[in-house]
Amino acid sequence: MKYDVVVVGGGPAGLGAAVEAKKHGANKVLIIERDRELGGILNQCIHNGFGLHEFKEELTGPEYANRFIKMVEENDIDYMLNTMVLSIEDKKIIALGEKGLIDIEAIAIVLAMGCRERTRGAIDLAGYRPAGVYTAGAAQRFMNMEGYMVGKKVVIYGSGDIGLIMARRMTLEGAKVEAVVEVNPHSSGLTRNIVQCLDDFDIPLLLQHGITYVHGKDRVTGVTISKLDSNRNPIEGTDREIECDTVLLSVGLIPENELSSDTGVELHNTTKGPVVNNKMQTNVDGVFACGNVVHVHDLVDFVTKESRIAGRNAALYVLNKIENNETVETEAGDGIGYIVPQQIDTKLGEEVNLFMRVRNIYSNRKLVVRDGDEIILQKKRPHMIPSEMENLKLSAELIKNLKGNISVCVEEA
Ligand SMILES: Cc1cc2nc3c(=O)[nH]c(=O)nc-3n(C[C@H](O)[C@H](O)[C@H](O)COP(=O)(O)OP(=O)(O)OC[C@H]3O[C@@H](n4cnc5c(N)ncnc54)[C@H](O)[C@@H]3O)c2cc1C
Repeated sequence: MKYDVVVVGGGPAGLGAAVEAKKHGANKVLIIERDRELGGILNQCIHNGFGLHEFKEELTGPEYANRFIKMVEENDIDYMLNTMVLSIEDKKIIALGEKGLIDIEAIAIVLAMGCRERTRGAIDLAGYRPAGVYTAGAAQRFMNMEGYMVGKKVVIYGSGDIGLIMARRMTLEGAKVEAVVEVNPHSSGLTRNIVQCLDDFDIPLLLQHGITYVHGKDRVTGVTISKLDSNRNPIEGTDREIECDTVLLSVGLIPENELSSDTGVELHNTTKGPVVNNKMQTNVDGVFACGNVVHVHDLVDFVTKESRIAGRNAALYVLNKIENNETVETEAGDGIGYIVPQQIDTKLGEEVNLFMRVRNIYSNRKLVVRDGDEIILQKKRPHMIPSEMENLKLSAELIKNLKGNISVCVEEA
């Protein structure tokens, strides 16, 4: 089988990229999705809050995904479901579908495999291995898509957005959420989720606390929690046991990048996703990437924004219309964890959105962008937290005049 553009992953990133590739002149576009339907993680996110930027409406996850699935169908884009891409080499893709192995050749590829959750093993949670310990996303899928209630008395470890949303969801389904336990002095979820999912339901958020033991041999019977010092060590005498039958882990997401690295795509140390330029182009010729596989987003609307760039440039690559000019690098300065894209082609003549996360909580500061030593943009920010992605728009004019690498820092306002 031969295609112009093959998109790996049928979540919002893959759907958006495929539609855009088709609209920009790629004739044959294929999406390969390992799950039983298109839509990615959005299918299990049945709460609202999606699409405020993109559609100026408040949609649920499946509604948001469905808008793009319709566009895929209207644009005659092929897709394969229940099919997992196993390897990519020299733009030859090997996938495993219901009827066995499939060979596909592509001119351009868009990587859109999303991310996965960190598990109990990743955080060395002490205790036996009883039933009742789930990642928050697995519990979300069980409850919202398969119709299983995963427990009645719950402790949530980590205050990531999926855990917060599951605290509300389990409460609405009749469970008692005893506490959300967070090792950091601040939540790792969006402020709106703390308010709407915990405060509104009187669920306590225990900051600077850790679960030090999971009790129970066959099924979870409880957890021991302790206060932590500034080095995250348990403080003696602060142990207490909370009775529960379920522990949900919401302790971070990791871009799903085994396929990318096997393909030779350079991964970034901090994001753990591909290093990309402002065309969402990786270091491997004809291979583009977008969405959570590049860096973990907090809002799907920004995933869509990024996927459009990847899809359009994949089509331009197929049409031999993509130019590769010299690039400058973006550097995360003081207070900034990472910036995407990591490289900017200054001759592209387009504005660039820099996405970044700050390292700490900051009040009344500014984000300062420098071209070498020269300040080219500064924006005041009353409040910044690591869990909320920051976004700075550099105009086409600014980009055109860049002389060297650019850096972004957090500074006193
Ligand atoms: C458990 C979970 C819950 C979330 N809940 C929310 C939420 O409530 N609100 C919110 O704004 N954001 C949420 N997010 C973030 C959400 O992931 C993004 O908003 C958005 O869905 C990312 O889009 P994506 O297309 O990059 O990834 P995904 O939606 O994850 O889509 C990636 C797709 O790639 C497929 N895939 C992966 N590898 C392969 C392969 N080798 N072959 C074929 N297919 C493959 C996967 O099956 C999946 O369908 C959640 C994330 C997770 C992990």
